[in-house]
Amino acid sequence: MIVDCHTHLWNGPKDFSDELRNELASVGYCDEIISVSPERHAAATSSVDCSIVFGLRAPLSGFFSVNDTVAEYVQTNPKRLIGFAALDPTESSVLEELDRVVDQLGLRGIKLTPIYSGYHPFDERVLPIYERAEELRLPILFHQGATFPRKAPLKFAMPHQLEDIALRHPDLKMIVAHLGHPWEAETIVLIRKQPNVFADISGLFGRPWQFYNSLRLAVEYGVVHKLLFGTDFPFFTFEDTVDGLRNIVDWSQKMEVPSLPIQLPDDIINQNTLQLLGLSE
Ligand SMILES: [Zn+2]
Repeated sequence: MIVDCHTHLWNGPKDFSDELRNELASVGYCDEIISVSPERHAAATSSVDCSIVFGLRAPLSGFFSVNDTVAEYVQTNPKRLIGFAALDPTESSVLEELDRVVDQLGLRGIKLTPIYSGYHPFDERVLPIYERAEELRLPILFHQGATFPRKAPLKFAMPHQLEDIALRHPDLKMIVAHLGHPWEAETIVLIRKQPNVFADISGLFGRPWQFYNSLRLAVEYGVVHKLLFGTDFPFFTFEDTVDGLRNIVDWSQKMEVPSLPIQLPDDIINQNTLQLLGLSE
């Protein structure tokens, strides 16, 4: 079973500030990125058996997703779609929103973005979210790594900052998006020692040298079984991501560098993601 643990859906331009739209353009993302309709998401994810889908909520950086957008879409194909709620604990209504997305919208996990929202992952405003997520068995996918908007503080972006959460909430399932780029090594040592912390490989193939080194380090530390397949659609597609994985392994086999195992792409693409995250029914 192929699971894409990292895809986005938004509701067009109104989910983004003008400033963020300019910043997206300045790093090379065209307007197609922000106009991902349910139809486009469904077509682009037809090659996978299940997609986890969410928006982004971080007013500081200009993301204004509303969780109803994802919930309505998930209802169109609940067997193949799992919705996560985008939450921002700097908003005073966040705990009511958490209740609403679980009780009324049927969302099954949470997307948190400390760097985009501007809070430390152990900020007291976010701690009740971890408590409830552990209790309700909602996995949390963190953007815990670098990003481009100017106002998003790098000081809240380090993967090791999730360790205190893992120690306090040992049953909470957490995923570090994009292997915590560019601190992939930090993520790898974190997922090695914290049983319920995982990482996804989405969005990394475009920097092949770093991607090669990260995958090689994951092999050396023995954590490939904790790497989840993800695309970061609409930024990248399933086909791009699979090709990127296979190409880097082929390259390593041909060059005089420590090679990546031939079976590595299939191991990651077919990872038992729903079971690892406690989402298989
Ligand atoms: Zn993403």
